Amino acid sequence: MKKRNANRKKSLSYFGFGTDIMKHSVVCSECNSLEPSNRMYCSKCNSKLPKSNLHDLYKSYHISCEKCGTVLSNSMHYCPHCGNRVKASSELCAL
Ligand SMILES: [Zn+2]
Ligand SMILES: [Zn+2]
Repeated sequence: MKKRNANRKKSLSYFGFGTDIMKHSVVCSECNSLEPSNRMYCSKCNSKLPKSNLHDLYKSYHISCEKCGTVLSNSMHYCPHCGNRVKASSELCAL
């Protein structure tokens, strides 16, 4: 039953987080607790959780595939998920 996208999962887990997991997670800005993105308030410290999820956050630090949104490491030139060519990120690296 849970065998769908086995290959995709494999490649995503290579990076530690799958995009689906990241899209459904937010990090509390107060205590850094990892919370599901459908929560409004942190389960640990009860402060309001940020709107941008972990995926948005991660994307702002790393390059991502324009086609499928897979977050890539800065040294990658092709998306492992869809094979899309990724732009060189020398400008991003300087940040
Ligand atoms: Zn918190
Ligand atoms: Zn892609």
